[in-house]
Amino acid sequence: MRAIISCLTALLLAAPLTAQQAADTVAPEVSTVAGAGAHGPAVAAALAAKSAGLPVEGRTWMIAAANPHAAEAGAAILAAGGSAADAMIAAQTVLGLVEPQSSGLGGGAFLVWFDAATGEMTTLDGRETAPLAATPRLFQDADGKPLGFFDAVVGGRSVGTPGTPALMAEAHRRWGKTPWPRLFDDATRLARDGFAVSPRLAALVAYDAERLAVHSATAAYFLPDGAPLAEGDILKNPAYAETLRVLARQGTRPFYSGRIAADIVRTVQEAPNAGVLSLADLSLYTVPERPPVCASFRGMDVCGMGPPSSGALSVGQILGMLDHLPVTGPEDPETWRMIGDAGRLAFADRGRYIADSDHVPVPTEGLVDPVYLAQRAGLLRGDKALDSVAPGQPEWDHARALVDDESLELPSTSHISIVDVDGNVLSMTTTIENAFGSRLMTNGFLLNNELTDFSFRSHRDGVPIANRVAPGKRPRSSMAPTIVLRGGRPVLAIGSPGGSRIIPYVAHSIIAWADWGLNIQEAVALPHAVNRFGTYDLEAGTPAEALQPALEAMGYTVKLRDLNSGLHAIEIGEVLRGGADPRREGIALGR
Ligand code: GLU
Repeated sequence: MRAIISCLTALLLAAPLTAQQAADTVAPEVSTVAGAGAHGPAVAAALAAKSAGLPVEGRTWMIAAANPHAAEAGAAILAAGGSAADAMIAAQTVLGLVEPQSSGLGGGAFLVWFDAATGEMTTLDGRETAPLAATPRLFQDADGKPLGFFDAVVGGRSVGTPGTPALMAEAHRRWGKTPWPRLFDDATRLARDGFAVSPRLAALVAYDAERLAVHSATAAYFLPDGAPLAEGDILKNPAYAETLRVLARQGTRPFYSGRIAADIVRTVQEAPNAGVLSLADLSLYTVPERPPVCASFRGMDVCGMGPPSSGALSVGQILGMLDHLPVTGPEDPETWRMIGDAGRLAFADRGRYIADSDHVPVPTEGLVDPVYLAQRAGLLRGDKALDSVAPGQPEWDHARALVDDESLELPSTSHISIVDVDGNVLSMTTTIENAFGSRLMTNGFLLNNELTDFSFRSHRDGVPIANRVAPGKRPRSSMAPTIVLRGGRPVLAIGSPGGSRIIPYVAHSIIAWADWGLNIQEAVALPHAVNRFGTYDLEAGTPAEALQPALEAMGYTVKLRDLNSGLHAIEIGEVLRGGADPRREGIALGR
């Protein structure tokens, strides 16, 4: 694999640049001059609270996001009376600059909104779509064998139509209070004047240097003069500043049917491992509103994004099963037996049934039906790990034969939670899929590799897989932007990156907050113990390791791992309390 990538790199570097590649390859300006992109005083206080295990408190508004610059941009909008949707746009455009490996204009997102005035919940689907020219064999070789993961990821093949710009525009159309152009100011200034490369970005660039070298524009930005960006380098992104100026002035039209659209298509089609994305795909992109999916837990409604995400269904299944069981406390291995096997049962259903419901039937109501979940919870009453776990039979009027999905989901992504002065709540998980997406860059932003969230296999023994590739289809996601309601009013907004581990990260944080009395900062910091497919993953270097002997005695295979969530949450009551995952660089800011 490494050999193939080096070979591609060599070929690419030897080939003459196209006009567009030449335009994209303008080297960024990097220096180590201090002062650019300095933070305001609230950031130091927020970081101190986070390291002390304390939530940040506010009374009127709050934002929790994965990078201090992004939280500050959103906070400035909220402090001036802007809506949570406005603040999201300001934060997202900054995240695309300072945390480019995780999300941005070239990616997709799911947004959950609670409207304080009407009491209504809305979910918007800004997921990437497969090109109209894609076939179920997109990720198979000439013999129909699934490609290796990174052979599929790197290059044009994995790029779906980006949804994030259209989602930003739709959120602003519905809920915006601040003039659209203002929402781009902070990101444009930072892109023009520069920001300090964070430790996390520098580490990920160094780790991924070989793949970042494959495409010339990407290499020029992240590996200037051939060397990876270093922590503290002041990085400018003039191409991104120009893209933001265009979006601020002209809206998203240039992105979906103008010059930027043409650049995206050319980049995908001319890349190594070329893709079939076309201008038609971009111009046809829409942001559907989907019905929210809710499950009950301890008298609350835990609500989020339905298909094409498995997030709310699988979080809802885990919590819905545990609603029938005494989940005592995080030190008790018996607690983790029930939580772990509830996770395995949820993942069995997810692999069999969940995909884009516009393309395949999905038993959405049946999967979170309380009677079905009570029956599944009955399987958890023993005292040993379940020997085997199979998908259940939720109520469904489409008794169709399906076989289980196969797709590899590795973590990157970002989550933003916001409460505004009017009491509206926004929870949005945003992604370009793998760290640095497809590794293709144009106009200052990276293009996603979201299509590798499809199953690479389309069927087995003639029986189809629900999450197979199809033209115009959206790949199944695990993203679980969540809003929890009690008596119809919001009490918590939460979500995380983490590939398919997002589901247990979010479910367990809700349990820790609701059942174990942890404050929201402690809940998002709780050491992880995660079971999706049978292996029990314990977070290495944390007290979770102490669970190993007891879990092994119950019959689990235990692995110690780096479990890199990025939970960002806000507890909503008389006081707003924000929590930011200590495993990443984010903070909560509020007033
Ligand atoms: N692409 C993944 C999904 O939509 C998210 C990846 C991640 O969290 O890192 O489920």
